[in-house]
Amino acid sequence: MIPFLDLSSMTLEVRDDVMAKWQELLESGRFIGGEPVESFEREWAAFCGTPYAIGTANGTDALHLTLRAMGIGGGDDVVVPTNTFVATAEAVVLAGAKPRFADVDPDTLLMTGQTLKAAVTPATRAVIVVHLFGQMPDMTELTRTAAELGIEVIEDAAQAQGATWASARAGSVGRAGCFSFYPGKNLGAFGDAGAVVTSDEGLAERLISLRDHGRVLGSHYTHGAIGTNSRLDTLQAVVLSAKLRRLEAWNISRRHITATYRRLLDGEHVRLLHEADEARSVNHLAVIRVTDRDRVQVTLGRRGVATGIHYPTPCHLTEPYAHYCRTPLPVAEAAASEILSLPMYPHMTDDQVEYVCSQVNEAVREGTSR
Ligand SMILES: *Cc1c(COP(=O)(O)O)cnc(C)c1O
Repeated sequence: MIPFLDLSSMTLEVRDDVMAKWQELLESGRFIGGEPVESFEREWAAFCGTPYAIGTANGTDALHLTLRAMGIGGGDDVVVPTNTFVATAEAVVLAGAKPRFADVDPDTLLMTGQTLKAAVTPATRAVIVVHLFGQMPDMTELTRTAAELGIEVIEDAAQAQGATWASARAGSVGRAGCFSFYPGKNLGAFGDAGAVVTSDEGLAERLISLRDHGRVLGSHYTHGAIGTNSRLDTLQAVVLSAKLRRLEAWNISRRHITATYRRLLDGEHVRLLHEADEARSVNHLAVIRVTDRDRVQVTLGRRGVATGIHYPTPCHLTEPYAHYCRTPLPVAEAAASEILSLPMYPHMTDDQVEYVCSQVNEAVREGTSR
């Protein structure tokens, strides 16, 4: 059986480093904030090429607190792609604003300047661009379009730690970049964690306050804003620093696996997502498109290849979000019944990748010969 995702080899690589640091922490008793959080924030900011990184409890809070720190809330609209994990739209509602859903490009399944324009309303203050599956969309075009429209760009980079567009790191292009370190992401904690990166000092200061009960910097019981408790956990910061030292190697390995998928999958029956010349994906997921997807998925399952669907229903067609959108978004709707995510994790062996390819090719050909 080839699992869809196997975290155990990554865990094993960092286990000794993490245990040593956790031992020190247990002895010190400093479980909130402290050196491990500050170190990771410094390292993460440097990695992303931004002056500031602010740790949060998870990626959803990173997005929702960023919107609040930018003063976006009641009466405001925020454009999000409909083809995303629900948290992108959820964060907009949590901030008190309304999500407006944009369609995506048929080759990358990412938002474009055109689909952004089609979704924008007079009340739109910002767009959350999502680097889905590990790839940044055309940020040159999106940044230009947003500037023309007079709206802010926020990056949901939860699936794109280390990705670039024209050499700029994910998170460093918009006003703010929001990350999740959920265990299954390219850089994942041993639990929930997240962060925001930005070059805007004022925004960074507001986020530091909002994630910590609205505290005025340096004080304990002086509250300058209504915040929340969304601090990056100290135990998780230790894990993230240890894993960050390996992230580039792991991303290279994912790239190698993707290249093998591209080489060996039957290009006539299997459509792979396009990678733009200026983009360097970190291949969070290996998404293919096939007609007859449900049958292919069942067949693969029987032959020991676990797969996933990201995501089965575009956000604007899910019950809680349907009332925010009254127009069809045909590209995302058509893709939803064709997408299939193949196994992807850095320690997948060549044999495993080759086995997946042969099974996918067989499964799709069986469908066409009937
Ligand atoms: C994982 C993810 C999030 C949410 O992160 P959590 O840490 O689970 O709150 C947001 N957006 C995208 C695109 C994600 O993949």
